[in-house]
Amino acid sequence: MPLTLKDFVVFRSLRVHQVLVAPKQVKAIYTVQKLDGETISNELIYSYNEAIFDPRSKEDVNMAALMLAQVALNYGLFCEQIIFEGLFDAHDKLFLKEMLENTAREIYVNKLLAENEFLKPDFANLQHQTQKKYAAAELIFISPTNQKPFVVKKAEPDVNKFAILSSGGKDSLLSYGILNELFEAHPVFVNESGRHWYTAYNAYHGMEKLEPNTSKVWCNSDRIFNWMVRQMPFIKENFQNIRADIYPIRLWTVAVFLFGVIPVARKRNIKNIIIGNEYDTTLQLNYQGVTHYAALYDQSKYFDNALSRYYVKKGWNFYQYSILRSLSELLILKILVKRYPDLQRFQVSCHAAHKEGEKMLSCGNCEKCRRIVGMLTALDEDPKRCGYTDAQIEKCLKALGSKKVKQLGQDAQQLYYMLYQKGLIEENEHTKKLAKENPQILQLRYDNERSQIEDLPKFIREPLLDLILPYTQGVVKMENRKWVKSDKAALKLADTTYKIKQNG
Ligand SMILES: [Zn+2]
Repeated sequence: MPLTLKDFVVFRSLRVHQVLVAPKQVKAIYTVQKLDGETISNELIYSYNEAIFDPRSKEDVNMAALMLAQVALNYGLFCEQIIFEGLFDAHDKLFLKEMLENTAREIYVNKLLAENEFLKPDFANLQHQTQKKYAAAELIFISPTNQKPFVVKKAEPDVNKFAILSSGGKDSLLSYGILNELFEAHPVFVNESGRHWYTAYNAYHGMEKLEPNTSKVWCNSDRIFNWMVRQMPFIKENFQNIRADIYPIRLWTVAVFLFGVIPVARKRNIKNIIIGNEYDTTLQLNYQGVTHYAALYDQSKYFDNALSRYYVKKGWNFYQYSILRSLSELLILKILVKRYPDLQRFQVSCHAAHKEGEKMLSCGNCEKCRRIVGMLTALDEDPKRCGYTDAQIEKCLKALGSKKVKQLGQDAQQLYYMLYQKGLIEENEHTKKLAKENPQILQLRYDNERSQIEDLPKFIREPLLDLILPYTQGVVKMENRKWVKSDKAALKLADTTYKIKQNG
């Protein structure tokens, strides 16, 4: 019998219930009922350093239910039912339903059909069959009894205030640097249990001293994710020992962190919610008739736009966007290190960092480390500034000369081109082949797909471009599938309205 999606439905139900709201913490129980009737439970928690919630406020109880529902949206393919107990309005229900199905489709294409080393061999050759809907789970909402219809009061948050989902990576550091210079910036770090926090450690402890608006949320979502994976009979039992850049199943991840930031934004009356995403993370693809986003939906502008539409309908009235959508990774690092050298010192992009004294240090061996060292060197900056040693730098540059950098083609070619031109990497067949000039990597890119000026609210366009442009080699626009020189005036900064577009 060939495998079908039904073979992956391994839970009768997933119930998110007993939502508890305290001033500094919200939590809920995740209960899984397996097909044989056995039930097991675990607890999902978000904790804050400051009082954020009023347990008597319906709006805060609603907020908590929404936060605690996000992790569950990863499991639509695997459950017959997903049951949310808590206070939800009509917009929430629709949003959760849409995102459950969207995530199911993403996981179906990118985790079940695609090669996934976490799947047991017996589950590795699922054949594609077009379906109307991919999530198996029926979504059931159970509201508290005697609950009157509930509507969120229309909020009027302050347009000059920005909350930045912060991780210690270059994208959030640069977003903070720019927004702190132009407006009022609030970096919000989400401390996920487990090793993920290592990359944020230096930035959080540095920013805490520099910026009084710094906030931190602790969340144990990582424990729930791993616990859920352990219950899935199609995942290899030793999944935690498999070294990979990807997660076994989950693809609805950024939202789990984002919903940790939203209560801080509401409490502080912040209008703009910023996630630092670059040009390359918006991809809309088609796999034999199934639209998907290459496992990057939650880093794409479609995600930002969907969330902004939801916030406006719901009455929260936030805008969510990235101020870095027209920039490459190399350009982001360039602006960060040239304009905000003191923030760049905090950067840890390596996922195998270790602690020495009160500082996290990158491993110096992995593909990410090689890329960061390569880029900083190509930009005439010293990688020692963010903790690399002379020996590590030498090793990374040597490895770049002999191994392939995992990066989207044109970015890598440009990086090799710069290193090659400056005589910083070995001259050989591999480096010669890769070194190719792609001027658009150092330019601000606008096209109809990934980045348009309309993706930014009007008020921010001019000051943002004035700040960024001096670090770039100008503006280009995609015309007839070619990059064509453009300029700031052609972008019509003042004419076009901010568009929160539908997908596609
Ligand atoms: Zn590393």
